[in-house]
This record gives sequence, structure tokens and C-alpha cells, in this order.
Amino acid sequence: MHAELLAVRDQVHARNPGEVEFHQAVDEVFESLGPVIERHPEYVEAAVLERLCEPERQIIFRVPWTDDSGRVQINRGFRVEYNSALGPYKGGLRFHPSVYLGIVKFLGFEQIFKNALTGMPIGGGKGGSDFDPRGRSKAEVMRFCQSFMTELYRHLGEHTDVPAGDIGVGGREIGYLFGQYKRITNRYESGVLTGKGLSWGGSLVRPEATGYGTVLFANEMAKTRGRSLEERRVVVSGSGNVAIYAMAKAQQLGANVVACSDSDGFVVDEGGIDVDLVRQIKEVERGRLKEYAVRRGAGVSYVEGASVWDVNAEVALPCATQNEVGEAAATRLVASGVTVVAEGANMPCTPEAIAVFQSAGVLFAPGKAANAGGVATSALEMQQNASRDSWTFEYTEQRLTEIMVGIHDRCAQTAEEYGAPSNYVLGANISGFVKVAEAMLAQGLV
Ligand code: NDP
Repeated sequence: MHAELLAVRDQVHARNPGEVEFHQAVDEVFESLGPVIERHPEYVEAAVLERLCEPERQIIFRVPWTDDSGRVQINRGFRVEYNSALGPYKGGLRFHPSVYLGIVKFLGFEQIFKNALTGMPIGGGKGGSDFDPRGRSKAEVMRFCQSFMTELYRHLGEHTDVPAGDIGVGGREIGYLFGQYKRITNRYESGVLTGKGLSWGGSLVRPEATGYGTVLFANEMAKTRGRSLEERRVVVSGSGNVAIYAMAKAQQLGANVVACSDSDGFVVDEGGIDVDLVRQIKEVERGRLKEYAVRRGAGVSYVEGASVWDVNAEVALPCATQNEVGEAAATRLVASGVTVVAEGANMPCTPEAIAVFQSAGVLFAPGKAANAGGVATSALEMQQNASRDSWTFEYTEQRLTEIMVGIHDRCAQTAEEYGAPSNYVLGANISGFVKVAEAMLAQGLV
């Protein structure tokens, strides 16, 4: 790592002890930035790196609520308003028991560059809570969301900070959060949250956007080697929002999606995953993936407690959570013939896994580029809200496709320009960073 970057990195680690995911995200970006610092000493002079690593604002708050048995529960809420050089803070809310400041900061940091890559006017932020929605009734989830928003609302606004969903926060939770925001502020401010329902300001294609975008990006990468995803064997991790629509788009492009997972295990369906059934079980019934094998019957296997990356794949799409693909899984995937890996989730591959893919010549897309379709479509939702308009599915999907192809090409060109063709990690990090750094320089020391 470049000496200037190393010094800032050490300082970031020391000032943020114990936040291992945040350290990992910073290290991963810094590994790419050496050549940029060489070309642009003005970034160092203006302390752009130090400023980028320090969030503009961090909010941590108590979320008290009452469960169905009348017991008081206390959770912790977070919102990290990371960087507003390019626009209002924008990034999802995650409800998962693993959430703590280090996770929110890693996600927020990634979000800055991802949002820059989309070409849309949005800054970076992220938030969430250690609340676990699993096993909670609808009424409990609603009371939690209302209490969460009762604190968070004062920090939000369509020109200030615009949250969306993430793990554990889907359309239902966004509905409860929006309802409470509207009630407290007495404003029908559609553009304050994205991922809304269609009849109250949501955008067509937003639910599909992250998964669709990931597959569109993977397809663009594959095409650079002369073969699209058609008839390729695809393995996906997760069975949530991103995974479901990644599988659906891969199938539309003619791929054979054979496996997906949840946090308990994975299913293999050699005839092709029935995505509607996965959606029915996981999204509608809020059940477990194990049920899929029961309902599909003979020929479909369910393996509990093991990794979906044990399944042979030509194309791997990690769409579950951070650090789910380690060195051993990456080595196994390479041995099984994987040639394309695109991160639907945020930071699902460890640095060691990425090194394995890159040294084997696998086309590897980092999440900040490959999964940017979700936030880009959120920005399209904000556009529709601002103009009180709603676009057709076809038009919105066309915009998403253009955005994903644009991100792909920008990453590929930047990698080429910096002498590392096909290195999408370098291309994404440099391209996103330069855009934010230029805006920060122009706006002075704030
Ligand atoms: P969901 O909550 O809809 O789905 C998450 C899926 O991942 C579920 O199948 C879940 O299994 C599985 N999962 C979660 N944690 C683990 C774990 N520790 N081990 C194994 N499996 C796990 O979330 P999303 O699909 O929205 O998000 C998935 C990833 O994509 C996250 O990294 C998120 O940050 C990222 N992302 C999401 C965007 C969006 O628009 N939603 C945008 C950009 C990135 P189970 O059902 O058992 O909990």
C-alpha cells in the first residue's frame, strides 16, 4: 500500500477500534488508490482521505418498544450520515442482530463510492438496528418501526437523508416507517424513503433492481470474454430480495440457476430453481428454504448447515451477507470451473477470496459496482416522487439497464486507464473515489 494511504489507514484503525468490517472496507478501497494519489497530490494536501473516512455525522439512539407479551424491549438504532458531497445521504436500513456501529460504517463507507458510480446525485449513508425481525409478529415489527422512526425522523428529509431497505427491511417495514414519519411531521414527503409500495409513491422495478442489476453487470463482464450468461450454470447464495431477483433475471437471460440458500442451508434443483416458489415461501409466507425441497419433491435436495459454495458453478452470485465467501470457498469455486463472480451482497467475499478469484483470471465484480442497481433505482424513485410521476416497468427497467451498462463500462475503462484491464475492483474504487474527491475539493474544507 502507498505510504500516504498506509498512514491514514493506520490512523483509521486506531481511531475506530474493534470495527473490523469497517477496517476491511477501508483497506479494500485504499489498496486500489495508490496510483490516484500519485496523480493527484492535491487530494493528500486537502486531507480528502482522512475526511472521507470520518463520517459527517453518526447518530446512535435507544429504541424502546413493547412485545406481544407486554414486556419492554430495548434495541439500539443507528444512522451514519457519511458523505454528502454528491447529494443527500442515501443508503438502506438493516435490521439484524449482528448490527453494530462497525457494520453500519462499513456499509456507509461502501455506499459513498457505489452512489458515485451510479452517476446520480446522491451522497452516502447507512443505518439500522440490532433488532431481529425473525419470529416477531407483524404487530411487534410495526411497534418497533414506529419507535425507531420516532427518533430517526428528525434527521431525515428528502433533501437531507433518504433511507431505504436492506437485510430485514423490506416493503412492509418501509411502510410502517413511512407511516410514522408522515404522522409525526404532518408531511406527505414521498421522497424521504425509497422502496415504498406502488400505490403510495414507490417505483416499479425497485424490488427487482438490485438482483436484476447484479446479473446485468455479470452479463456485461461475461460478454467481454465473448460469452454471455446464456446456458451458464449459476449458483446464488441467499433467498431474500437480492437473491430472488438475481435468479429471476439470470433465468430470463437463459442461464440455468441450480442452487440458492438461507442462513440454515441450501437447496439444489438441477432442473432450475423455481423462483416463484422461493419467493412464495421466503417473502410471502416468511418461511424457511427447507420447505422448498419438501414442496418440489423428488430430485431436489436440501443440505442443512453447509455452504452453498460446495455446489459447482460457472457463475457465482453471492447475494446473502458480508464475508460469506472465504478463501476455501473461492478455491473450491475456481476448481469447479467458475469464470464470473458478481457480488449482489455488500462485501460477501473476503480479501483472500477476491485474491483467489483474481489470480485465477475469474471476472470479479465488487458489490459497490455490481449491486448499485438498487440504489440507482431508488434515485429514480426519488425523481418520480419529485415530479409526481410514475413510470412504466419497461421504461424504468430500460433506465436501470443503461445505468448498469454505464457502471460496467466506467469501471472497465478506468481499470484499463490505470493499467489493470478487467480489474473491476480497481476500476470501481478509483472511479467512485475520484468523483467524490473532486466534489469535496470543490466544496472546500467542510
Ligand atoms: P434480505 O433480508 O431480503 O435477504 C437476506 C438473505 O441472506 C436471506 O436469504 C438470509 O437468510 C440470508 N442471510 C442473511 N444473513 C446470513 C448469514 N449470516 N448467513 C447466511 N445467509 C444469510 O436482504 P437483501 O436481499 O435485501 O440483502 C442481501 C445483501 O444484499 C446484503 O448484503 C445487502 O446489504 C445487499 N444489498 C441489498 C440491496 C437491496 O436493495 N435490498 C441493495 C444493495 C445491496 P435468512 O432468510 O435465513 O435470514
